Amino acid sequence: MANEVRLRFPPSPTGYLHIGGARTAILNWLYARKHNGKLILRIEDTDAERSTEASIQGIMDGLNWLGIDWDEGPYFQTDFTGDHQAAGQKLLDTGKAYKCFCTKEVLDAKRQAALAAKQEVRYDGTCRNLSPEEIADQEAAGIPSVLRFKVPERDGSVGYDDKVLGRIEQKYCEISDFVIVRSNGKPLYLLCNVVDDIRDRISHVVRGQDHKDNTNRQILLYEALGAPVPVFAHMPLTLDTKKAKISKRSHGEIVAVHWYRDHGFLPWAMINFLCLLGWSAGDDREIFSKDELLEAFTLERINKSNAVFNYKKDDPKFITDPKLLNINAHYLRTMDLEELAVLVKKELESAGIWQAAYGGERKGWFLKTLDMSRERFYTLKDFSTEGRAWFADDFAMCPKALKKNVRKHDQLREWLPELADRMAALDDFSADETEKAARDFAEEKDIKPGIPINASRAVLTGQIKGPSMFEVFAHLGKETVVRRLRESGRWFEK
Ligand code: GLU
Repeated sequence: MANEVRLRFPPSPTGYLHIGGARTAILNWLYARKHNGKLILRIEDTDAERSTEASIQGIMDGLNWLGIDWDEGPYFQTDFTGDHQAAGQKLLDTGKAYKCFCTKEVLDAKRQAALAAKQEVRYDGTCRNLSPEEIADQEAAGIPSVLRFKVPERDGSVGYDDKVLGRIEQKYCEISDFVIVRSNGKPLYLLCNVVDDIRDRISHVVRGQDHKDNTNRQILLYEALGAPVPVFAHMPLTLDTKKAKISKRSHGEIVAVHWYRDHGFLPWAMINFLCLLGWSAGDDREIFSKDELLEAFTLERINKSNAVFNYKKDDPKFITDPKLLNINAHYLRTMDLEELAVLVKKELESAGIWQAAYGGERKGWFLKTLDMSRERFYTLKDFSTEGRAWFADDFAMCPKALKKNVRKHDQLREWLPELADRMAALDDFSADETEKAARDFAEEKDIKPGIPINASRAVLTGQIKGPSMFEVFAHLGKETVVRRLRESGRWFEK
């Protein structure tokens, strides 16, 4: 089909799936899905020293976790070396490329001289017009050669209409004859990438601005190979708040997609957030369902300027970009409870506090617990950390709650076990009855009701805030409430 929309995600498998790479994959996927096109996964593994099996697997796991599906591939660039070499040969045969015998030493000396004279470093064309005899002589002398692309001589320029950046043009005279095949016969990235895109009939290339400077040279290759030039869209780079490129070296695992999977983030929240990193719908919306995103997404609305991943690694409050936390919280708090239950089950299992009953006779209780507690949660991890007291006795207490609501009043050491006796005596353990019991108790002791109530929240849930305390009493149940109040002495041991 001539006008088929075909995009590709061609990662180099030299590390894990980075959030920048994931964003590239997501935007390509969105465009393909929106236009009933195809997404092709192509692993650019020609750098044999740096490419690893683990990285390929990691990238595919990351895409699968996000729910980014592809229609063709994975294709492996190394399986097509023959195509790349044939294209180099075709360019040589048609006079669009030439053999260059200049040695590294000679090229280095010329580069130094150009730098010293403050001139642009560009190949000077020494081998551009060698005669067949001169070439034969060099080869007879065993001098190795690379293949260089012959940039057209005419006054003129090459350019394209970038969907994001607008018209980008470069004069031929500004482009050096570039190497396309090494002296050892290995084709280089610029050529391989174009040959693969031609073979895969790619109609749209959506990639990072770090590739922008390659594009004009690649267009020359398309033209020389007689292939149609795809549409290009270059996305902004992702920087941190200090305008540094985000990387594993400076930011750690937080730039890897698997970090988010392992820290309780929801795949759709990631997709939603990553789309907003460098794209906007043109209004102030931040939450998008899949349909809404498909509807709103256009390449033209990708931002020109750098995207900021708002992560301050030295600030413990920022486990990641606050916008991502808020988006994750939104989905966590509004998603279908049954779906949430499946995810929380996994989280509790990995924390070692899952009980079979939560999926059986206590399922109703479990769902209600999730519903009551999720209002304050940001990630799935919160269910096993802040929310641990719902599921296990060995929870920690938030230091502020311990200081402000428990240890501040020494008499609570006696009052809480006494309150336990009042609670134990209740026949009806409803929110109303527990409230009445707590308030009567406070009145009797002539203290503010907040004192036993806040202390109860702390020793029952470990938290300083949470859902209505009387609902917490009722939902935790008499047995747990009475036991934890009775055993609350442990919180007073310093
Ligand atoms: N393998 C390249 C990268 O990971 C992709 C280049 C492209 O999209 O053309 O940056």
